[in-house]
Amino acid sequence: MFKARHFAVGAALLFAGAPLMAASVTAPAAAPNPLLQPWTGPYGGVPPFDQVKVEQFKPALEAAMAEELKEIDAIANNAAPATFENTIAALERAGRTFNRVSSVFNVFSSTMSDDAFQAVEREMAPKLAAFGDQITQNVKLFQRVAAVYEKRGASDLTPEQKRLIWVDYTGFVRAGAQLDAKAKDRLSAINQRLATLFTNFSQNVLADETDYKLVLEKEGDLAGLPPSLRAGAAAAAESHGLKGEWAILNTRSSMEPFLTYSDRRDLREKVWNTYYSRGNHGDAHDNKAIISEILQLRAERAQLLGYKSHAHWRLEDQMAKTPERAMELMEAVWKPAVARVHEEVADMQALADAEAAKNGTPKITIEPWDYRYYAEKVRKAKYDLDQNAVMPYLQLEKLREGMFWVAGQLFGFQFRPVDPKTVPVVQADVRVWEVTDPTGKHIGLWFFDPYARPGKGSGAWMNQYRNQERFDGAVTTIVSNNANFVKGKPGEPILISWDDASTLFHEFGHALHGLASSVQYPTLSGTSVSRDYVEFPSQLLEHWLSTPEVLNHYALHYQTGKPIPQELMDKIERAAKFNQGFITVEYLAGALIDMKLHLAATPDKKIDPAAFERDTLQALGMPKEIVMRHRTTQFGHIFAGDGYSAGYYSYLWSDTLSADAWEAFQEAGGAYDKAVAKRLLDDVFSVGNTIDPADGYRAFRGHDPGIDALMRKRGFPAPASAPAPASK
Ligand SMILES: [Zn+2]
Repeated sequence: MFKARHFAVGAALLFAGAPLMAASVTAPAAAPNPLLQPWTGPYGGVPPFDQVKVEQFKPALEAAMAEELKEIDAIANNAAPATFENTIAALERAGRTFNRVSSVFNVFSSTMSDDAFQAVEREMAPKLAAFGDQITQNVKLFQRVAAVYEKRGASDLTPEQKRLIWVDYTGFVRAGAQLDAKAKDRLSAINQRLATLFTNFSQNVLADETDYKLVLEKEGDLAGLPPSLRAGAAAAAESHGLKGEWAILNTRSSMEPFLTYSDRRDLREKVWNTYYSRGNHGDAHDNKAIISEILQLRAERAQLLGYKSHAHWRLEDQMAKTPERAMELMEAVWKPAVARVHEEVADMQALADAEAAKNGTPKITIEPWDYRYYAEKVRKAKYDLDQNAVMPYLQLEKLREGMFWVAGQLFGFQFRPVDPKTVPVVQADVRVWEVTDPTGKHIGLWFFDPYARPGKGSGAWMNQYRNQERFDGAVTTIVSNNANFVKGKPGEPILISWDDASTLFHEFGHALHGLASSVQYPTLSGTSVSRDYVEFPSQLLEHWLSTPEVLNHYALHYQTGKPIPQELMDKIERAAKFNQGFITVEYLAGALIDMKLHLAATPDKKIDPAAFERDTLQALGMPKEIVMRHRTTQFGHIFAGDGYSAGYYSYLWSDTLSADAWEAFQEAGGAYDKAVAKRLLDDVFSVGNTIDPADGYRAFRGHDPGIDALMRKRGFPAPASAPAPASK
């Protein structure tokens, strides 16, 4: 997952920006608020994580918003005719202070969210939304942007400048700049209310992740769990003051391995229920009413803006362009994926029946909490591949070195650890690396925050603290990768699953997309691309984990230091398409519900999210042994912000590109082919949003991607008439 900054509407404008002195906003006698100061220290300045206190956020955000509004007014009221330089470039220069403050604010929101911070966040969310609207609804400003837009063809601007004009102009129009005053007021009220609802939604999910855990008191309750998971559960219990016991936290990284390995069907059911009921307990943290209101407000906003639905509004500036095209792709994959699930369940049921007969125990029917457990057993039986046998070779820190090596092979990037005394971090577990290009030139910093802790959202994601830019002098990027590995005992290597290793490479792909950026203007840099394209670089990078080069040198046994045996590697490769039915269906069910919810919603109809999920999945023929990867009441992608709303399909869309792009390497000299890697850097990783993604992809690949490579990757039969997702 990729976490964009919180405020989507008008984002291109809000997050333009280079350091700008903030002296005018601090009272002369008071101690300066560190959040408002230009970042100091090495590498063009670094975030002042060591000086930040939660109570500083509110005054800092308020001062930074006031400062940016002044800058915006100066641009809007300029007496000279509107030009690229005095309008579009000036917007890129505005809001530097706000960018810095909100960048640190977002790090706290996703990784340091305690009660005090959450109170600030709840208070500020609607104010930040109103602030965004104040900019996009500024009539004079929009007229100037529109004037530059009208003249863009006749001028001698660079292609990147023309693209920036288009991005700004469409951003304004899509945010309602052309509406009358009454409609603008209503739009702004909707945005503010939505901001509050998004904050409440994610705080509720976080509360259910923090407040619930399964505490195990007896060793016998751990039956089936491998030693590394036992150690992690013991450490988790200890950190909650339960020394001598074991705790299974209510997060994905604790839930998934427990469901895969625990022999205790009763406990599996408990853990499954607790995890998949997040946001749906009917208590103070229940999200159902919030979701109904979000859907109504989004539908109303779309109507105000002149769109058929929220989905139509969201998709318009994406690569897919329309919900219909996204649905077409999803539907083409859904049927073969469901058919594969039925085969997978039949294999599991046969194995469970044989087990029951052998042990003289009652027969069971595969339930959702059995899927991972029996899938693992089938994997062992069919491919003789034991995930447990793989994990001792997957040491977190070794794999991190492997990722660095891949970045070196593909793009010539080098990673060097930064002296912790020179770059402050938000929490002691966070580490920082400096990244340089093949000429040794500094290109950015990579922050790594790998461990779960209270107040940190679950899952894994990439974040961008500062965008790369060049137009007023070089500013290098700062990116972070975040995960939720259980820390374990001091000094012991952290062993992770194959899936987690794959996610690690995925997020690192986002980080490289940020680090490789080489553009003029910050609004267009790095990962600032359309949502259905942004997952392409990250999904592509997952492929390098399974290359023999990485496995031989970085998949080393934590005790013997020996590389993963060839025999085990062969098994991994043979099992690569295993369980694709489950993986595709649990994801696609969520993507379809997301799109259908946003197509069905109207301003005056209250949708019951639980009933909608149940009925829609039933109509789709959802296998009863699987639930959505993120059930509706915990679907942060689509309800914690607008970011992935009507956009969860993006992962599948991007995967059609990444599957096809990987074949480009295979058709050439393999995973490390220098010529293909150079095209990947030049046409995809370095260009940000300076070109249309479909054009960038075509330049890299020589043709548009179809669906065939995706179907081959997942081991599904190719449909007779395949939609071509990326053709215009
Ligand atoms: Zn991602």
